[in-house]
Amino acid sequence: MLDLKLNIQDYFNKELPADPILENSRRQVTEACFSFVTPKKTEKPELLHVSSEMLKTLGLTAEDGASADFLNVFTGNQLLPNTKPYAMCYGGHQFGNWAGQLGDGRAINLCEVTHTTKNWALQLKGAGETPYSRTADGLAVLRSSIREYLCSEAMYHLGVPTTRALSLALSGDQVLRDVLYDGHPEYEKGAIVCRTAPSFIRFGNFEIVAARDDKKTLKTLVDYTIKHHFSHLGAPSKETYIQFLKEVADQSLEMVMHWQRVGFVHGVMNTDNMSILGLTIDYGPYGWLEGYDHNWTPNTTDRAHSRYRYGTQPKIVLWNLVKLANALYPLVEEAAPLEAVLHNYSDTVEVAYLTMMRGKLGLENEHENHARIVTELERLLQESETDMTIFFRNLANLPKDKPVDWFKVVGTAFYAPLEITDELKSDWNLWFIDYSEALLKEVQTDDERKLKMNLLNPKYVLRNYMAQLAIEDADKGDYELIDELYQLLKKPYEEQPKNEKWFVKRPEWARNKVGCSMLSCSS
Ligand code: AMP
Ligand code: MG
Repeated sequence: MLDLKLNIQDYFNKELPADPILENSRRQVTEACFSFVTPKKTEKPELLHVSSEMLKTLGLTAEDGASADFLNVFTGNQLLPNTKPYAMCYGGHQFGNWAGQLGDGRAINLCEVTHTTKNWALQLKGAGETPYSRTADGLAVLRSSIREYLCSEAMYHLGVPTTRALSLALSGDQVLRDVLYDGHPEYEKGAIVCRTAPSFIRFGNFEIVAARDDKKTLKTLVDYTIKHHFSHLGAPSKETYIQFLKEVADQSLEMVMHWQRVGFVHGVMNTDNMSILGLTIDYGPYGWLEGYDHNWTPNTTDRAHSRYRYGTQPKIVLWNLVKLANALYPLVEEAAPLEAVLHNYSDTVEVAYLTMMRGKLGLENEHENHARIVTELERLLQESETDMTIFFRNLANLPKDKPVDWFKVVGTAFYAPLEITDELKSDWNLWFIDYSEALLKEVQTDDERKLKMNLLNPKYVLRNYMAQLAIEDADKGDYELIDELYQLLKKPYEEQPKNEKWFVKRPEWARNKVGCSMLSCSS
């Protein structure tokens, strides 16, 4: 059996009240934070990929990853000895509205393990029904599983706080999905991803117990979370609860600033998809900016209002923090200190954003012009349809004291260079004059600046069409591109001469294609 150091007793028996009903029947689960469940046995499971990085992180070997035990455990067909899988109860605000009980409808926590002092919860996504499955089947399809698997590992290597992925497997079962919700359901290959994180607790876990006026369970959950994940805050008290909110706010701000930096659009920032540890969680209809566009969302379900578009992500974090603060209120019983935390977020978000953008632009010596340079650049990038990744990566090649044609440096980032109007061209010229002047105030050399900028501006991200190509191949039974992209995205900031073909703009065929720029929540 796999040599994992299990760490479960404390979790179940002492801390969280367990749901007494040990079966998967769908129901409202009250006065409890989770329910024991049994993963569904799968027909003919087949492992498609194992994250070598995550294996190592858990203390497992490549041999372990190739073993029959591994396949069976991470497709839900075999339980690790002395473990009791469970699904968590949470609620959430979806697209601005309270949705009541949601919960792990298709996620099953297998166990918790410790390796080199770090704790990891191992969770299967797509391993069958739970009490929280509501009207759905508890399963996941291959396309969304490939997207979650590749993207969460890619985000980790980009330095973005995220849940991770250990393995991607076919379940061998067929799953019925209506991709565009237009009455054309089709069978697709079922798949199971094993996700890992120190914890999968979300804002919604707190909201559901607060919404039920269940102060006792709320306190149990908050105290549990602090004890296990914010232990430096000390013993539970009103003060600790306020500090807890502050830390969640800080970590969430850090997370969303990374999203803005790399051009990641989550797509469904409902409060049930907000990790209490500030991790990117629940990779659904997410996307990567190709043409830089503050108004872009990949999520077709959100097309009407674009609530979760790229440019609003930092504000939505605040909206979600307000909901978390409300959920914590019964333990604090004073609004002012909770409000102070929220105000602090809104006071710091702009500074954090400017600091992040200055980093992307290689502007170290703070100057009052920088805010203007950033705002004007955003306008120009937006109006000229410019590839975000290519633009920032190539910008690092601009010398600070030699006159060069800026178009030679960043020109390949423009999707339609011939369509740029004279007015826009002249604005670009002015911007580059402004930026070059700012660069002249920098003490660092061009080489030093380039080195630093290249650590903030990735060369390779999981462009929407890249994931789609891997999915199309996989549907035909060819899984090689999954590994190619996995390997590529392990080193997103490095030059990889053999992989230049992935440092290109989105091909035209992918502009409006389902699965690339348009994704639904169907997964
Ligand atoms: P998501 O949009 O993936 O964040 O999911 C929102 C809620 O729907 C969560 O409670 C999920 O567990 C649940 N859910 C999504 N897909 C399924 C499914 N296929 N079966 C059961 N529950 C699901
Ligand atoms: Mg979710």
